Amino acid sequence: MKEHPRVAELRSALSSSPGPVALVPTMGYLHEGHLSLIRRARGENRTVVVSIFVNPSQFGPNEDFTRYPRDMDRDRRLCDEAGVDHIFAPEVSEMYPPGDRTIVEVTELQDRWEGASRPGHFRGVATVVAKLFRIVRPDRAYFGEKDYQQLQIVTRMATDLFLDLEVVGCPTVREPDGLALSSRNVYLDPAGRQAALGLSRALQAAQADFGAGERRRTALERRMERVAHDYSGFELDYAVVVDPHTLEQLQEVNAESRALIAGWVSGVKLIDNAAIAPV
Ligand code: AMP
Repeated sequence: MKEHPRVAELRSALSSSPGPVALVPTMGYLHEGHLSLIRRARGENRTVVVSIFVNPSQFGPNEDFTRYPRDMDRDRRLCDEAGVDHIFAPEVSEMYPPGDRTIVEVTELQDRWEGASRPGHFRGVATVVAKLFRIVRPDRAYFGEKDYQQLQIVTRMATDLFLDLEVVGCPTVREPDGLALSSRNVYLDPAGRQAALGLSRALQAAQADFGAGERRRTALERRMERVAHDYSGFELDYAVVVDPHTLEQLQEVNAESRALIAGWVSGVKLIDNAAIAPV
């Protein structure tokens, strides 16, 4: 495994690497969720690149950019064990050199849900992912369904810009009790960890109601709100049932619909989602 801090170095290493080439973009502090993407990429491609970059442009001014957890030594070891070929771990100045002015926006999709409570977040995501796609030029890029809106935005961007790569969505990895793995879970104390269960429990309740025949969107959304409300310390941002691609609220829910939920526990923003009709 080789580690590259510079774009030019990575590109020269990739020029002699066999295809297909996979990219797994991450912000590091790797957990089983990230590793599931890496293993899938390893199984489907000849060359696997993992990027580790805490991207400042996707954090708001009052968000956790400086305190976002980092552990490069551990990440390096985990990538090596998972059979990664190249780590790309640039400095901020490598990705945003002086004079950098270009941004990528995926209109409408970027403004809904997470975008409404984190203005500019998805502009930062789309911009850095576009840069990574052009730097690595992968055949496939692997993203988690955990960040469902992000997955839809990146898929849309790849299509709209004719980027000629496959965006592969991978299922959410969870703790045994249902909590979705997230690097931000380290911020939670035991009480917060308990409160965070409100997310997955609300999604499960909506799935159960859908399974029992409920098709009214608002009824399913109210149900998620009520379940989340029962978890003291969990402050709900939104709980919605949406079209899986446009992320708009539909009048009639169907088996393709997606339930999205987000909220705060002790100031930590947590998100989760699920297919309303699990397969
Ligand atoms: P992050 O480091 O949080 O930016 O995440 C990097 C990638 O890992 C993104 O595509 C995430 O959606 C994905 N990811 C994060 N948590 C999970 C999880 N629990 N299960 C599956 N994928 C995940």
